[in-house]
Amino acid sequence: LGRRINAAVSDLSRSPTLDEKAFDGMVKEICNALIESDVNVRLVASLRNSIRRAVNFKELGPAVNKKRLIQKAVFDELVKLVDPHAEPFKPRKGKANVIMFVGLQGSGKTTTCTKLARWYQARQFKSCLVCADTFRAGAFDQLKQNATKAKIPYYGSLTQTDPVVVAREGVEKFKKERFEIIIVDTSGRHRQEQDLFDEMVQIQHAVKPDQTIMVLDSTIGQQAEGQSRAFKEAADFGAIVLTKTDGAAAGGGAISAVAATHTPIVFLGTGEHMLDLERFAPQPFVSKLLGMGDMQGLVDHVQSLKLDQKDTMKHIAEGVFTVRDLRDQLQNIMKMGPLSKMAGMIPGLSNMMSGMDDEEGSLKLRRMIYICDSMTMKELDSDGKLFVEQPARITRIARGSGTSVREVEDLLTQHKMMAGMAKQMKGGMANMQKAQGAM
Ligand code: GDP
Ligand code: MG
Repeated sequence: LGRRINAAVSDLSRSPTLDEKAFDGMVKEICNALIESDVNVRLVASLRNSIRRAVNFKELGPAVNKKRLIQKAVFDELVKLVDPHAEPFKPRKGKANVIMFVGLQGSGKTTTCTKLARWYQARQFKSCLVCADTFRAGAFDQLKQNATKAKIPYYGSLTQTDPVVVAREGVEKFKKERFEIIIVDTSGRHRQEQDLFDEMVQIQHAVKPDQTIMVLDSTIGQQAEGQSRAFKEAADFGAIVLTKTDGAAAGGGAISAVAATHTPIVFLGTGEHMLDLERFAPQPFVSKLLGMGDMQGLVDHVQSLKLDQKDTMKHIAEGVFTVRDLRDQLQNIMKMGPLSKMAGMIPGLSNMMSGMDDEEGSLKLRRMIYICDSMTMKELDSDGKLFVEQPARITRIARGSGTSVREVEDLLTQHKMMAGMAKQMKGGMANMQKAQGAM
């Protein structure tokens, strides 16, 4: 998708007459690319209008700026769609927070239940699992296995066939035992769809969840909208977890689902392993969807400034990008200014700083550097995985740097996105360096 959108934009800047007709053609091409990556057709139509409104063609400057402006308009509109500006659910310590999962069979509920329980467990919430899927043979066994591996207490029954009873008993038991996060897994299939929806509503009444999460398989494409709409009507949910984002799925379906249900995506499933769970953030998600992190632009600019970039350049050529590389880049931005222009070159950062003036922006950057400075050598030179495996490090760093856990997590998200791009650029950069005979 990103390639097609970039191609459409490049065609425009190459076209001899930069007229409005060429611009319309480009917008059309971008919209076709979006529809092909499963963004709902009606949404794309309204997106087209917003892009036209956002980009005043006659007032655009030279071709290069045009390209950036148009890309940014597409990016901003997609971010707006995927960011419903709803506060995500925050569980309270010392209280029983009941979270119920719904979603079709195979979407990844049981897998994600364990991931989420483990996520909260690692953040000092006493967490447990209840298996209310009595429909599928083997459902309880699967949950038991996952839970045992993750050392999460669980509840289920091999003899009780009424899922409402199992759910109620499990939640009551764990409430008495003062668990703080009680996650209820449910069935995703019935002989009749209506039976499934009835069952969901009954379980909701029985356990009164503080949050209901719908698990959505990102590989189902255009069906995402209809499916999430049907679930929303049957059993209102307050959040979406999007699974299997590690696959080749286009991801546009998720945008449609959010727009149709006005419900935020809170986590992404990024693999089959227990640790493959990431907090969702709109900007990196859209960047990835569009393939548009302007890593190349940053590299070009930094080279033209002749700053000491040897290590970072060498790393990127090898497909590596450490936390230290991010720190060096932030430091360079501080040196180079004006900030608003420079930050725009780092994918994700421009949006994080939009609406801030240069002073606020540089305060934000300084805080990010404080975070890096509270890291150990090992952490700075890491690829970031050790923070996932040992989240206690995040708390320590937040405390050490006088920032918040959220800020440290944001920085790590930023790093992860750039590391992913460095990996993608590996081949390209190596060739570029050879050609330039540099370094
Ligand atoms: P349920 O029927 O909704 O409970 O779905 P399961 O949790 O049993 O998952 C169905 C399949 O999807 C299993 O093979 C999981 O390993 C797989 N799965 C779940 N989440 C992810 C993910 O984020 N990435 C990948 N690659 N596979 C996943
Ligand atoms: Mg299941």
